[in-house]
Amino acid sequence: MFSFEIIQQSSATHARAGVMQTAHGPVETPVFMPVGTLGSVKSVTPEELAACGTQIILGNTYHLYLRPGREVIDRFHGLHRFMNWRSPILTDSGGFQVFSLAKLARITAEGVSFQSHIDGSSHLLSPEKAIEIQGWLNADIMMCLDQCTAYPASYDGARQAAEITLEWARRCHAAWKSSGNGHQALFGIVQGGMHPELRRTSAECLAELDFSGYALGGLSVGEPLDRMLNTAAAALPLLPAGKPKYIMGVGRPEDLIDLVCLGADMFDCVLPTRNARNGQLFTARGVITITHAEYRQDPDPPDRACTCYTCRNYSLAYLRHLFLSRELLAYRLNTIHNLHYFVNFVKRIREAILNGEFEIFKKRFYENREI
Ligand SMILES: [Zn+2]
Repeated sequence: MFSFEIIQQSSATHARAGVMQTAHGPVETPVFMPVGTLGSVKSVTPEELAACGTQIILGNTYHLYLRPGREVIDRFHGLHRFMNWRSPILTDSGGFQVFSLAKLARITAEGVSFQSHIDGSSHLLSPEKAIEIQGWLNADIMMCLDQCTAYPASYDGARQAAEITLEWARRCHAAWKSSGNGHQALFGIVQGGMHPELRRTSAECLAELDFSGYALGGLSVGEPLDRMLNTAAAALPLLPAGKPKYIMGVGRPEDLIDLVCLGADMFDCVLPTRNARNGQLFTARGVITITHAEYRQDPDPPDRACTCYTCRNYSLAYLRHLFLSRELLAYRLNTIHNLHYFVNFVKRIREAILNGEFEIFKKRFYENREI
């Protein structure tokens, strides 16, 4: 049921515009996917997400497996109905959280054993289990279990993690094929730290397995920007051209432009939601820090060109007051604006590719920056 079609390819760069078909409807690419780790994009409702132009959101396997768990989700036949989001959902495999959040994570022949960060209970997450959980979550796009390397990582450390990730990818692929969940897509994940040769090997081996799409994991983990882009540039061309390519956990608007140029189609990042809750607003002029005194009496919205609910109705002065007063509405209004900015920023990139004006878009983006 899942498919991907490229509609327009840029002549000057590897940028492309396409459409994915999923069990819960189409997704136009390039696309920005808001992060809803615990079955909620923090502080906003599904209606507000949709009003921001959101096509697809993320959920997290590790968190949703531990809480609320299978019994609850099964009663709703999956995550969509449980959280009242009827459009596509992509679920992260949980690999990243097992290694970063859980206690006593240990790799065994079966998978990775760990203790829950919530109650200390013992669990085993294997490649097969990761597919099973994403099966009952009924994700439109599932991700393979992977081991992300921290930065900096030694060559040997990164190689080991890439090898384990590849072995797990093969097992995830086999579990997916035998699961009967053909309506769900499965993406393979390229690892290899910041070592281009490891990334190339990882991409080539994964490409031999017929995944629905491919992702680059373990980027934007503290490395300098040029290393991130070099690493992405090493792996992206080796992934099958006709499949969607997803850069996990990246990034700032300028990073998205650079990665689209390299041929990336999908992005997710906590930046718009997390920074909204920290009082930072993304605009065409740059990032606004709402606590700054210059906004104390400012009657303008955060971005005059923005058509979001927040910018249509509220001033910088009011948003600053809400934030300084720690009013809950501050987080909601800031999040609505930032999500609208990110989702529509990538949507405008798509339109520019379709119109053959991506280079002009890129130039204007940097010209508009003031802050
Ligand atoms: Zn706005």
